[in-house]
Amino acid sequence: MLLRHTTDKIIEREALTVNPAKTCQPVGAMYAALGIHGCLPHSHGSQGCCSYHRSVLTRHYKEPVMAATSSFTEGSSVFGGQANLLQAINTIFSVYNPDVIAVHSTCLSETIGDDLTQIIAKAKEEGNVPNGKYVFHANTPSYVGSHVTGYANMVTAMVKTFSMKSSTKKNQVNIISGWIEPADMREIKRIANQMMAKIVLFPDTSDVLDAPMTGKHEFYPKGGVTIPELISTGDSKFTIGLGPLCTLDACIKLENQCKIKFDSLELPIGIQATDAFITALSRAAGVQVPDSLTDERGRLIDIIADMQKYLYGKRVALFGDPDTLVPLTEFLVALDMKPVYIVTGTPDKTFEDRMASILSAKVPEAKYKAGERADIFLLHQWIKQQGVDLLIGNTYGKYIARDENIPFVRLGFPILDRVGHSYFPMVGYAGAMNLVTKILDAIMDKIDREVPEEKVELVM
Ligand code: SF4
Repeated sequence: MLLRHTTDKIIEREALTVNPAKTCQPVGAMYAALGIHGCLPHSHGSQGCCSYHRSVLTRHYKEPVMAATSSFTEGSSVFGGQANLLQAINTIFSVYNPDVIAVHSTCLSETIGDDLTQIIAKAKEEGNVPNGKYVFHANTPSYVGSHVTGYANMVTAMVKTFSMKSSTKKNQVNIISGWIEPADMREIKRIANQMMAKIVLFPDTSDVLDAPMTGKHEFYPKGGVTIPELISTGDSKFTIGLGPLCTLDACIKLENQCKIKFDSLELPIGIQATDAFITALSRAAGVQVPDSLTDERGRLIDIIADMQKYLYGKRVALFGDPDTLVPLTEFLVALDMKPVYIVTGTPDKTFEDRMASILSAKVPEAKYKAGERADIFLLHQWIKQQGVDLLIGNTYGKYIARDENIPFVRLGFPILDRVGHSYFPMVGYAGAMNLVTKILDAIMDKIDREVPEEKVELVM
């Protein structure tokens, strides 16, 4: 009963957040940067920030997450961190030899107003950036937005720095990935491969944060989009952005910079969002959808039809990031479930409209909210008022699940107490099969546990 003091009486709060459904911007910037091959993320701030960002990523991915820090002292906190960053760039290239350093700011360096554009230019002028190597940056003040905003800012910075238009058009499609797991990125590449569509996916953390154990430590694992691939995105024939909050700015930047048209889609979670992605990729790349993908879709529909009685009408509470919650809610509605309570700590002006378009006709009683006060505490209070049959969210949901005896599916970031999330996809039809299986397992395990002895069924 860890959350036994949570009551169902909701008091309007203006300034207080309890159990936020988000974390801080640089975490997302660091994760996105790891999706470039040979990249060392660099945190321009104090050591404590960098330790936190590295540790939360390491705990989620169960992989060592490398990053450097400007290691601010009291002096740099007052007079600025220019000297620290110049020294750091010099040291990093001579000791760790990355292809690229992706610098992100922190609350402290943003507050004192360090000008990262100017500092990086100075490092280049002073010859501290070797030929053929790169340093770029994203501003990620954590007192606005969330980890998702930081991810979006770093992805936009990749486009700004690398995408370059030459005189030769390439027969390839850019896919800008929102925040999904390494396995999801691998799944997107598998789908494109099946369709014989040539793509450049970025960022791409597959084979970086789910790299195989070989017995040999690789400081820069084999995965990640390469710098030549990133540069070539300026010559692609089309761009598909997956997850508007994470990728729309980057799509717009790429269009303005290199005149490449784009589609901004939801993450391909569930049936409709995957249909939309595959249709868009087929159109953009000028390729057919192969029978193998149509068969995968058919198998997904078959599982849903077979197990419909366990899904129908079940009330679901969920929390996480807007780009995940929107297609997930759409999928739950397609399963004939009732997503009744939904919160995200990430401020997102489009969230309520996107949710309303999915829920207003099918689940008019649903409550949803985005922003600072849309926290896990509020979600728990709603659940106290009227219970749910399933909870979906990151590890922090386990306290509610335990106290209220609700089947719990872990999905989102961070997941600190289980494995598998970075190895089994949730996107595409295959990912939707994984997801619906997890949902059914959670619901049916509870039935098996609690049903009276004389009603235990062997065949369900
Ligand atoms: S919220 Fe700000 S101070 Fe705290 S860890 Fe993140 S960047 Fe550092």
